[in-house]
Amino acid sequence: MLELRPNCECCDRDLPPSSDAARICTFECTFCADCVDNRFFGSCPNCGGDLVARPIRPEGKLHRFPASLRRVVKAHAACASVQRPPEPGPSSWA
Ligand SMILES: [Zn+2]
Ligand SMILES: [Zn+2]
Repeated sequence: MLELRPNCECCDRDLPPSSDAARICTFECTFCADCVDNRFFGSCPNCGGDLVARPIRPEGKLHRFPASLRRVVKAHAACASVQRPPEPGPSSWA
């Protein structure tokens, strides 16, 4: 079953289960349509596989089969030019 991850792994945009802008690869690396079209040109920056539209799980099924809440964000070479907020410093661990 798909995790239905809640965000784009590149720009961290929200991708709710009902979003038609979500794209996934065979490992379910999850991106938004903008990143796929403009940065990755249709192939996953992690595994090189195809990125395709994520199927939408009908709302009634989400109660029994809820979407993942675990946000995944990674630095990909192709995203290096994207503006990001600064990483939290070591002091935030205290
Ligand atoms: Zn994105
Ligand atoms: Zn992938």
